[in-house]
Parts: sequence; structure tokens; C-alpha cells
Amino acid sequence: MSFPVTRMRRLRRTEALRSLVRETHLHPGALIYPLFICSGEGVRKEISSMPGIFNLSIDEAVKEAESVAALGVGGLLLFGLPAEKDEQGTGAWADDGIVQTALKEFKKNRKLDSLVQIADVCLCEYTSHGHCGVVARDGDHYEVENDSSVALLAKTAASLAAAGADIIAPSDMMDGRVAAMRAALDAGGQQLIPILSYASKFASAFYGPFREAADSAPQFGDRRSYQMDGANLREAMREIEQDLAEGADMVLMKPAMPYLDVIRAARERFDVPIGAYQVSGEYAMLHAAFQRGWLEQERAMMESLLSIRRAGADFIVTYFAKDAAALLG
Ligand SMILES: [Zn+2]
Repeated sequence: MSFPVTRMRRLRRTEALRSLVRETHLHPGALIYPLFICSGEGVRKEISSMPGIFNLSIDEAVKEAESVAALGVGGLLLFGLPAEKDEQGTGAWADDGIVQTALKEFKKNRKLDSLVQIADVCLCEYTSHGHCGVVARDGDHYEVENDSSVALLAKTAASLAAAGADIIAPSDMMDGRVAAMRAALDAGGQQLIPILSYASKFASAFYGPFREAADSAPQFGDRRSYQMDGANLREAMREIEQDLAEGADMVLMKPAMPYLDVIRAARERFDVPIGAYQVSGEYAMLHAAFQRGWLEQERAMMESLLSIRRAGADFIVTYFAKDAAALLG
């Protein structure tokens, strides 16, 4: 049937009609809020390029997490800023590490029971050089070693699970880390802790503000020898396939908005839960436009999240989680 029998506008006439035929929905339980936890007490330091996002000491992080839980947000993704860094990133797997200590606090607090507490696993926040693994140097040349990094990452995963993490989320992009983490978790009696692997993580300019937030900018070189080339969709599918074969329970893809086609391709190909990370630069650029009055804040925020859901993400890690959850009610 074509016009005039078919008139597409009939179903757009009122909000009630539009609501009835809406294909994609957002809900607070499918949003994950990242937290950047630092040492000290009473620390609440705003990140200049990310309005409303803070480095929080554990006492402040507990308050923030309580407000996140009260809004019905599904979970937290935890990053740590240790007081001290070293070549190997030993703070990442220390029993009294910053995220381990925070997790133990969070787990004592019944108001946080509704939040899935996800621990990011990487070394870059903990290494003095800011790379995601062990660096071997030879004069001017350097290499981020794979297998020695994987051993440390696996130790980190086991330590975070022992401290109470509900999900382990490796973001380092070393080869073979998922299998090593699964083995380390199982050996530590954590057979029921799932792995959410950042399977398709592209080397992206959109991570810029995060590096301030997590104090994790590489001191030399860049991350292109381990994170993926932004031009490659087929390679992303291979990365996901590999991680699933190694035992990943879910996958996370990042960034989100510049890679919606990759999320869609993954959705069509894999039947595991897929998360997408709307990264710091996506948040920062929208906020820059909000500040200038160039975009309408609430509508642009919700449209950005909806686009990621529509592309096929089951859940979204986003700095907008609190604002969006408050709007969704
Ligand atoms: Zn890293």
C-alpha cells in the first residue's frame, strides 16, 4: 500500500501513540556509572573536561554510590587512582589497593546491594609509565610485553574478585588475558564471577578526558600496539570471537557513538550480552555543546543513549547514568 492509503504520520500524532509503537527503550537498570576512586578522605575533585564527574576518596565514593543506587542505576564500573605508581603497577593487585579497599567498604553497605559492582582490570592507572602492561625498554625503543602483562593482569583480576567485585572487566587488550583471568579466578574459588571483556576497544582520541580522570596518560608512545585500529570492523569480530572462546561471559565495546556500526555487527553475530561504553570524549563533547547552549541537554543526552541501545547494546556504561536515570524515573 502506498500513499494516500498509507500515511506514516498516523502513528506519530500523539505522545500516547508514539509511546505505543516505540521500538527501543532505555531503563536505569541497564545503565552503568563509572567511579574514579582516589586516596585520602573528603576528596571530591571535579575533572575539568567532564562536568559533574569527580575523583572521589572512598568515603565520598560511598555517598556517591548510595545516590546512584537510589536512582535505580544498574551498576558501577570502578577505576582506581593509587597514591603511588611503579614500573609494574603493583598497586593493581595489592590486597589493600584502592579499588580492593573500596570494594570491601561497598560490600558492607546494604544500600548498595542493588548495584552490580564491576571492577575494571588494567595496569595503566597503576604504572609509572601509564601503559596497560609491562614495558620492556631498549634505548629509545620500547615494547609493551604481552605474556608477562597477562600474568599480572590475571593476578589483579583474582585480587579484585577476592575483594568482592561482582564482575571482572579486563580493558587492557593483551592477547590471552581472558583465559588467564578465568583460570586465576577459578583457582581462587571464584568460579561464579563473570568476565565482561572489553573485547573490542579501539585506540581512540575520544579517551582524552578519561586520562585526566584516571591519571593514566602514557608517558611515552601511544596504545596503538594493543588497542584496535579504528578502521577495522572484521578485526573487532575476531577479537570478540577470541574472548568468548577464552571464556568471556559478556563483551564490552568502546567507544560507542563513533562505532555504532561495530556494535550492530556484533549484535547480529553473537548471542552474548553486549555492553557499550559511551566514553569520556563523547560525554565531554556533548557537555561542551550544552555549556554553549548549542544543544538541548536532556534531549541530546537521551538521543545519544538511545542510539547506542538501538545499535544493539544491552547495557551502556555512561557518565550520564545518573542524569538519565533521574529523567527515566
Ligand atoms: Zn589501560
